[in-house]
Amino acid sequence: MKLYIKLFLIVFIGILAISGLSGILQIRRETQFFKAESQRAAIILGQVLADEISNEWDDGGIAKVREILSKAGNADPKVRFRWVWFDAAQDAADRPEVDVSQLLANHAGSVHVFEKPDASGEMRIYYYFPILLSTARHGGLELSQSLSSITQYTRNTLVYYVIMSFLLILAIGSILAMGSFWLLAKPLHRVIQRTREIHSGKLEGRLNLHRRDEIGELATSIDKMSEQILRNRAKLQEETKARIEALEQLRHADRLRSVGRLASGIAHELGTPINVISGRAGLIATDEAASAEIVGSAETIRGQCRRMTSIIRQLLDFARRATPKSAPCDLNQIIAQTAMLIKPLARKRRVKIEYGQKDHPVIVQADPAQLEQVLTNLLTNAMQAMPDGGEVRVDVSAIQALRPEQHQETDQPQEKEKKYHVIRVQDDGIGITPEDLNHIFDPFFTTKDTGEGTGLGLSIVYGIVQEHGGWIEATSESGQGSTFSVYLPAGEEA
Ligand code: ADP
Repeated sequence: MKLYIKLFLIVFIGILAISGLSGILQIRRETQFFKAESQRAAIILGQVLADEISNEWDDGGIAKVREILSKAGNADPKVRFRWVWFDAAQDAADRPEVDVSQLLANHAGSVHVFEKPDASGEMRIYYYFPILLSTARHGGLELSQSLSSITQYTRNTLVYYVIMSFLLILAIGSILAMGSFWLLAKPLHRVIQRTREIHSGKLEGRLNLHRRDEIGELATSIDKMSEQILRNRAKLQEETKARIEALEQLRHADRLRSVGRLASGIAHELGTPINVISGRAGLIATDEAASAEIVGSAETIRGQCRRMTSIIRQLLDFARRATPKSAPCDLNQIIAQTAMLIKPLARKRRVKIEYGQKDHPVIVQADPAQLEQVLTNLLTNAMQAMPDGGEVRVDVSAIQALRPEQHQETDQPQEKEKKYHVIRVQDDGIGITPEDLNHIFDPFFTTKDTGEGTGLGLSIVYGIVQEHGGWIEATSESGQGSTFSVYLPAGEEA
């Protein structure tokens, strides 16, 4: 049942009870008063008439009495006067309506009141005034008064109260229904709608009821609750993302270790046979008795052996990377030196390397030779991504950050952010598809033609950066170029 209908019913029952009770009490009080007043009037009238009858009896006898009574009876049809003999026979006409045979003449001056229905069933009050006469019989005046006016009055009052109560209930009920609709039903409906929205996952939006009552407080609490849930949800999403990224990094490092072990094993095993093949091919190539065709083939074998040796060197670089020989070094110098080394190759490929050198040293604790390798690999990839030439931009900036895996330790007291220097290598080349972007740091992942790439460059970069206590991020869009950001912990500045 709706709240405002319940309220209406409570008020309805309350008003009905109060007005019913006060109506009953009022009717009873007024009826008693009315009755007492009419009794007083009847008794006064009866006593006056009794005196007159007593005076006139000796002169006129019963005839005179009847004359007096008939005159009095004309005044009010509701009041009847009769002369009665208390000792009259059972069915005599002048016998009293009530059995008052015990009343005697010496009761003169007193009045006896009885309430009883008459022959037609109408309630009447009978008054008996015994009168002392100069006769042996006992008689007196019978005055009777109809109670119909009192009954009528009671009925009218009752109807009045019923109508008034009904009108009161109607008026209060309508005011209450309207008031409760505006004050309760409408805002509560909005509150219920909002909780349903929250339940179905729609957390955006507010109730904004701006009321200073309990419903207003409830609405404010719901608004605050949904905002809190939204904040928590966003935080959770962020944490989950950071956790997945950290897990990815861990998995990647693990994969690198196993592939490294495998690669080192293979490289070791292949090194000696390749040297033997290359040596024998050299012998054949220098044999004077050999034909030009055989010498050509032997040179090709030597060439391919050199290529295999270079791949094996890279493999060993990747697998047995030496622990970095860390020392404070200036990134400005390392970048400038690498750019200078790579310039001839860049010129050949019509690529310009832009580096906005800082006017102050940018110190990191690192192995300069390994950092040069990182930069060489990134710059070589950038150049290879621009077959028609272009520009590679290198810049360095500093930020305060947490390591990606530190985002996941939400239950632990948060690590403090540390200062990192970021080397950004940006090109306008062919870019990387989102699918490839997930694999570029995997060993042997390459999209380049055989002979162009081994798929180890970025794996090496990844490992070196990790060992320096940093990390690497790549962003790219197909056809829009790529950006590689290397984060290295800042060293003590001089
Ligand atoms: P490789 O260069 O021998 O293929 P890497 O590990 O250096 O191996 O790179 C892996 C792959 O990542 C490349 O084959 C290429 O698809 C992609 N890649 C790396 N750097 C870039 C870049 N700057 N632009 C576009 N693709 C790149």
